[in-house]
Amino acid sequence: DTILEVKHLKKYFNTPKGTLHAVDDVSFTLERGKTLGIVGESGCGKSTTGRAILRLIEPTAGEVIFNGEDITKKNKEQMRLLRREMQLIFQDPYASLDPRKTVSEIIGEPLKLQKLIPDAKKRAERVHELMEVVGLADRLINTYPHELDGGRRQRIGIARALAMEPKLIICDEPVSALDVSIQAQILNLMQDLQEQMGLTYIFITHDLSVVNHFANDIAVMYLGQLIEKAPSVTLFDNP
Ligand code: ADP
Ligand code: ADP
Repeated sequence: DTILEVKHLKKYFNTPKGTLHAVDDVSFTLERGKTLGIVGESGCGKSTTGRAILRLIEPTAGEVIFNGEDITKKNKEQMRLLRREMQLIFQDPYASLDPRKTVSEIIGEPLKLQKLIPDAKKRAERVHELMEVVGLADRLINTYPHELDGGRRQRIGIARALAMEPKLIICDEPVSALDVSIQAQILNLMQDLQEQMGLTYIFITHDLSVVNHFANDIAVMYLGQLIEKAPSVTLFDNP
């Protein structure tokens, strides 16, 4: 069944040079448990599309139907609850993770803030569980992100997202800052998690090779528009 339907999504920015059509009438549907790769050169509007779907930035126009409901019509409190189900994973988790917090604090924080697990002892157990799920060794629990390599930092970012038990994860260049060998590990982890938990991914990347084998469909963006959407294999066979 369809988990996400994006209809005529637009995001315009007012700039000194005039109106910039960063996302210019983007529409697509996404089936539950599948992966849509969104590829295209830097500046074509991929990030803005991802953020507008989550309403981290407010769309200029369009509908975002998530589980049958248009989330662009939801108020703040409704959005706060919905955001649990729709998580974002960033390119460089080190930049978005607070350097003064330990691994366990970072992963446990959303559970506390969203009041999902108010009890400290239960929360610690859940953090332990999440670390195991993403392949972070127990001994790292009280380390700081800057003490870890990029791959482990991205595992923290993934664990933090998983803490909310999301249905949809928008991955914005999640492996672009990583060593090629580590990229493969993280991609394998993401694929395993998808199978185990039935996750749906939107995978944003400038590098088609990163998602080509992983995504079910690939959408190509150019100047704010979706110029092609096809099963990944088709796209690969007809370059
Ligand atoms: P991509 O993710 O494909 O690299 P982005 O979505 O980040 O592209 O950006 C699309 C276009 O919108 C770019 O020209 C970028 O400079 C512009 N843009 C993004 N955010 C803003 C903003 N807050 N204000 C003005 N322009 C923006
Ligand atoms: P990211 O790829 O993580 O979005 P960026 O460097 O593209 O990081 O953007 C950082 C912030 O600046 C974002 O909030 C983005 O919307 C904004 N931004 C990006 N391009 C522009 C621009 N041309 N003018 C103003 N703000 C921008």
